[in-house]
Amino acid sequence: MTSLLIRNVVHNQKQTDVLIENNTFSRIAPNLNTRTDNVIDGSGKAILPGFYNTHSHAGMSVFRGISDDKELFSWLHDDIWPREARLTSDIIYHATKFSILEMIKTGTVFFADMYFEPQVILKAAAEMGIRVAASHSALDLFDCARCEQEKRKTDAYLNCPHPCPEITAKVLTIHAVYSASPELIRYTTETARKNNMYLHIHACETQKEVDDCLSQNGCTPIEYLDRLGALNEKTILAHAIFLNDRDIELLSRKKVRLCTNPVSNYKLASGVFQFQKLLEKGCIITLGTDSMASNNNLSMLEEMKLCALSAKIQSMNPTAGAAEEVFKIATRNGAEAFGLNAGIIAEGKLADCILVDLNNHFLVPNYNLISNMVYSADSSCIDTVICNGKILMQNHHILGEEEITAKIKELSEMFRN
Ligand SMILES: [Zn+2]
Repeated sequence: MTSLLIRNVVHNQKQTDVLIENNTFSRIAPNLNTRTDNVIDGSGKAILPGFYNTHSHAGMSVFRGISDDKELFSWLHDDIWPREARLTSDIIYHATKFSILEMIKTGTVFFADMYFEPQVILKAAAEMGIRVAASHSALDLFDCARCEQEKRKTDAYLNCPHPCPEITAKVLTIHAVYSASPELIRYTTETARKNNMYLHIHACETQKEVDDCLSQNGCTPIEYLDRLGALNEKTILAHAIFLNDRDIELLSRKKVRLCTNPVSNYKLASGVFQFQKLLEKGCIITLGTDSMASNNNLSMLEEMKLCALSAKIQSMNPTAGAAEEVFKIATRNGAEAFGLNAGIIAEGKLADCILVDLNNHFLVPNYNLISNMVYSADSSCIDTVICNGKILMQNHHILGEEEITAKIKELSEMFRN
């Protein structure tokens, strides 16, 4: 058994010790007299849950800033998809590690990823010690031959080696109703159901997606996905902006998890998530960053702030998107959406946490730490990141970070044109 003691750290406004045994918080109490393998001095720091980013495309980090200020469909068709065709497993591996580096720096301990070569994403996450739910992004553009190819890729993914299953999970993905044929949606849904897997889908990101679905299928993307059997409590829908009252009732009843991506939605001018209305109708909301190409960073701190501000302006109500609620969706809700017994600091929970520096100017004065985290903090406040009981960052430093960054500087040269 491995053990780690965090001494004299602030938890719920009181100073305490936190004992981690293996991958679990085993005791939280002052003055624990226990011999442990490792000790962290937590004085001047507070312990908080890490963040659970429920929608990302980590392999796209090599495209940060390559094509900004464009409309979503032309951005995808003209700039992103042609460059993605030039990606190799090796580039995706290094780009994913670079994304993970940024996630850890900004306090994230889990990401639900949707990209090509998911076995490479599992490997990168296992090496860096972060939790991941990785999936191949099933997309056939209504081409029958490609649909069959995608089905085979899904099957191959199910059978590929699974490094470090304690922290890495295989999930399945449908890219979107506008890029996946009904045959591919049915197949992926059925495979997820048979294997008891989570299903991750882009849905209702733009008005055009809804309008096209209405004219082609006579129903909204939500109703369409429901007809194809894709909606249940193991489904995570990214974006979910353009929803009518019937969609919302369906999503609430089926306990579908929604992932809002406010920064990406604002940058691409996609639309504004109906935060307060969805919350009041009983929908379960989580938070994600989307990719570095559309965000352009992976900071859940920035994401929380915009989520809160967006909720207020969307409902013209300053009490909407309250800091406590937004912090919960970025932590506990994200963990629970993927079946993790984590997301809060409590005995018996998985030992995922961050230590924040209470002397950092962004956290002073400290009347309400959660408000400070949502509205004021940036990554300089995060000193230490622990995931599954292991230290991933301490004193702001991650092992190998210089090499990971240098590799992306080198690889990015080939995508300039
Ligand atoms: Zn996305």
